[in-house]
Amino acid sequence: MADKRVMRSPRNPFAIAQRQFDEAAAILGLDEATREILRWPMREFHFLIPVRMDDGSVRVFKGFRVQYNDARGPAKGGIRFHPEETIDTVRALAAWMTWKTAVMDLPLGGGKGGVVCNPKELSPTELERLSRGYIRQVARFIGANIDVPAPDVYTTPQIMAWMMDEYDIIKGHWEPGVITGKPVELGGSRGRIDATARGGIYTVREAAKVLEIDLRGQPAAIQGYGNAGSFAHKLAVEILGMKVVAVSDSRGGIYDPDGLDYYQLIEHKRRTGSVAGFPDTTPISNEDLLELPVTVLFPAALENIITEENAPRIKARIIAELANGPTTPDADVILHQRGVFVIPDFLCNAGGVTVSYFEQVQDAMNYYWKEEEVHQRLDEKMTKAFHDVYQMSQEARVHNRLAAYLVAVSRVVQAMKLRGWV
Ligand code: GLU
Repeated sequence: MADKRVMRSPRNPFAIAQRQFDEAAAILGLDEATREILRWPMREFHFLIPVRMDDGSVRVFKGFRVQYNDARGPAKGGIRFHPEETIDTVRALAAWMTWKTAVMDLPLGGGKGGVVCNPKELSPTELERLSRGYIRQVARFIGANIDVPAPDVYTTPQIMAWMMDEYDIIKGHWEPGVITGKPVELGGSRGRIDATARGGIYTVREAAKVLEIDLRGQPAAIQGYGNAGSFAHKLAVEILGMKVVAVSDSRGGIYDPDGLDYYQLIEHKRRTGSVAGFPDTTPISNEDLLELPVTVLFPAALENIITEENAPRIKARIIAELANGPTTPDADVILHQRGVFVIPDFLCNAGGVTVSYFEQVQDAMNYYWKEEEVHQRLDEKMTKAFHDVYQMSQEARVHNRLAAYLVAVSRVVQAMKLRGWV
């Protein structure tokens, strides 16, 4: 089987995704055909996107879209614009989307897209042409009932708006459900913008209940200050009453034991492009931030930042994985042995796709909910999924990530069986 093509490096996200799946498949006793389908994408597209740059030259970007599995519904997942994007990263993220929609019990499958590019070096008009170029390449493979993209690392509601517009022009009709994470004015859902962080905060609240920890006034640290990380700061304070003592982004981090003010900090980041240099704080590296003595640690950036090397030094009681794939499998074992309660990525950060699903439902009705209704429905979904996973971890006596896999994989397998695939 083509699996041999997967680079066996311990840091290859797809090798990690397959290893995690294999562990769950062994416990569930899945047969060979079922494993073969689920450890590899069902379909993937590789293409080139020519973009006319502002200086008149043409640059050619490499793009991917992976439809990992659609047994439970249309493939669903974001598009990343990142200079280090690789097909194996997109495959891993598409696999995790499959488990994410299943653990949330959404009627969706899993997919992901990516473009190898550095959006920070593109002008707004170049970014628009790249976004439209991406859709021209995938328009024939996506659709509200086929595969539904959304934002991810370095992609925004504005980019979703350009993408939807390009798709509508190609198809010659209005079809907002083809893409989610759109601006509210263009068929987006209220509450989508902070949904990833909000969903994660609800799972932390539930974790604190089962661990019998009072989070009020307790310290938290956040690695990554994009959409998920910055809203996690706001909501950890507002919903959980926590004190966020450290945050970081790709340019550096800051620490203040008395707690950082969200509104002042977001204004500083807007002005300067980074959290670094925020007045009256101590600089801290991304690595040191992870090892601070906090109650909750939120990794909210990229993959593989908690490894077997630093896991023994992590002091947090709860790790709430807002990023996809921040913890390696070896680190998972160490954290579990040390009693750190990990809320695994595809549960913790599932708020984004859950409100994306709500967005699709509203688009289909062409009728839109109030923000409070979105929050309440999201809370219900997150709380239910958290307890499904927690209960499985207790029954099967496994760590939370493996428990989440057992819940999610069984649901996808059940759909494949009912369809007669296996
Ligand atoms: N990119 C987000 C994720 O990793 C959201 C995906 C979506 O809304 O489809 O879950």
